Amino acid sequence: MNNFKLEKNINKYLNSKNIKDISINGLQIEGKNKIKNIILIVSINNLIIKKIDLKKFDSIICHHGLFWKKNNKNIIGIKKKIIKKIIKNNINVFCWHLPLDINNKIGNNIELTKKLKIKIYKIWKNKPLIIGISNIKIKKIIKKKFKNYKFIKSKNKNINKIGLCTGSGEKFIEELIIKYNIDTYITGEISEKTICIINYYDINLFLLGHDESEIYGLKKLGIFIKKKFNLHTKLIK
Ligand SMILES: [Zn+2]
Repeated sequence: MNNFKLEKNINKYLNSKNIKDISINGLQIEGKNKIKNIILIVSINNLIIKKIDLKKFDSIICHHGLFWKKNNKNIIGIKKKIIKKIIKNNINVFCWHLPLDINNKIGNNIELTKKLKIKIYKIWKNKPLIIGISNIKIKKIIKKKFKNYKFIKSKNKNINKIGLCTGSGEKFIEELIIKYNIDTYITGEISEKTICIINYYDINLFLLGHDESEIYGLKKLGIFIKKKFNLHTKLIK
């Protein structure tokens, strides 16, 4: 399949052009025109690039790419090393960030909600945010699926009404507590300032890891590409 054709098709499927994002979505680096073997990774970085045998693939699809609208535009340091290796091997790098988070068919948020068996109560259209209902059993499911998860237990509240945002979803926590009275929040990672909010409102918090929480949408995108375009896809964690 042609690389630009694949970009066009996935842009359309994920409605990328209508979603405002901090990432440059679509084809970030042009490689071979004919695509057969695609590797899927959450974040493109030096460690993962070292792990992949680039001779066996012609394309990389990632969720966190090399180019962001507000990042430095200079190609130096690790970024230079990665780009050099990619261009040398004539690899395409595609990236879909927010369009993959918020997609209601295959997105990271919806897929994580399904994996955790959370009953959906409210989904936002333009934000990577879901409210759902669950119970104490969710702890067991998370323990099984996320080896390095962290749990901060509320002193007085049981797990019932859950707010969920994959990746670093801390900016929504306080709003969800005030407006929707959630007692539990699930996200990838938070910073120190959010610990105060969690303690103040006394809610339960699950931290699954940033990349770990954003694997399921990518996995689904791989399955979609395989079925729809008959291409070989491989997810690497
Ligand atoms: Zn992310």
